[in-house]
Amino acid sequence: TLVDLPTPRSNVLAIPAYVPGKPPTARPGLTSYKLSSNENPFPPLPGVLEAATAAVAHLNRYPDLGSAALYDALAAHLDVPSDHLAVATGSVGLLYQLIGAYCDPGDEVVHAWRSFEAYPIALATAGAVGRAVPLLADGRHDLDAMADAIDERTRVAVVCTPNNPTGPAVTQAELDAFLARVPSRVLVVVDEAYVEFVRSDDPIDGVATMRAHANVVLTRTFSKAYGLAGLRVGYAVAHPEVAASLRVVSLPFGVSAIAQAAAIASLAEQEAMVARVDELVVRRDRLLAGLRTQGWPVPDAQGNFVWLPFPGEPAATLAFAAAAEEAGVVVRPFPGDGVRVSVGEPEACERVLAVAGAFRG
Ligand code: PMP
Repeated sequence: TLVDLPTPRSNVLAIPAYVPGKPPTARPGLTSYKLSSNENPFPPLPGVLEAATAAVAHLNRYPDLGSAALYDALAAHLDVPSDHLAVATGSVGLLYQLIGAYCDPGDEVVHAWRSFEAYPIALATAGAVGRAVPLLADGRHDLDAMADAIDERTRVAVVCTPNNPTGPAVTQAELDAFLARVPSRVLVVVDEAYVEFVRSDDPIDGVATMRAHANVVLTRTFSKAYGLAGLRVGYAVAHPEVAASLRVVSLPFGVSAIAQAAAIASLAEQEAMVARVDELVVRRDRLLAGLRTQGWPVPDAQGNFVWLPFPGEPAATLAFAAAAEEAGVVVRPFPGDGVRVSVGEPEACERVLAVAGAFRG
């Protein structure tokens, strides 16, 4: 070109794009279901639309910068002082804030792979360097190898539990053993986006773990169990100093008044939320059992999704996604690794089982 444009930092052009789950495809005569973004198939909880609508009336005003009412509601819900909290634009926003606040360019971030695709994007955005530690064959974190990968350049380690996209959750015993090996100067992010769906014998008590280890940050979200993916609200629970640095680097007014009101109204509906999550867990476990009966080596599923492994088979991964789409279910292929299927409507789960059974022949 003829003009001399400003150039972004050299690493910026290499940042991979975030690939969102495909929307459902329109087909005459066939309802299509979106199972590609681990969303909640239920509508917002009772009272949430009313609370959000009331907030719409004030769209000419900025939201409360400090989200004070939401902090109060979360503090009461979690039984932690509000100085241990940081509210953000989705838990993905927290991830950017954490890495931005703690990593200088060149600093290292240890995380599992395959895991949530925003990790490599967020760390590259800050100029940090990822140390991606392969998962074990059963889709679990290799926490020993992750501890081995930590050195003097490591500033952050991310533990995704349950792991998106493979499904298993880390146990409290496994997390304790890992934390015993991690120097306290390394921030350990425990990404609990799907925590409400965990039904493990040894579930992590995130808040107790954070209290025992000042370098532990929990990140959670209203997008999954609470069904507010469209509004973008997440929160961190951390030592007050860590929470304060997260708030310092937050995008001003990043959580809208509508989002704040909807999150507060959602928190007030614990019973309804748990009933819906319980129903999704039943559907998940049924889907998991059905797939395993068909012979699929599906790892333990502790989130609102299941994982069909296709290691080293990119063509088969895409063929499965195409067959599902043909049957009116949009799933998420990760070519060469596997296919992730969110737990959705009962009819959608049935169709997944039918496609998976036919695919195995
Ligand atoms: N962490 C994990 C593991 C996820 O899968 C997701 C969403 N797919 C997020 C964080 C981000 O969720 P949100 O930004 O909607 O809170």
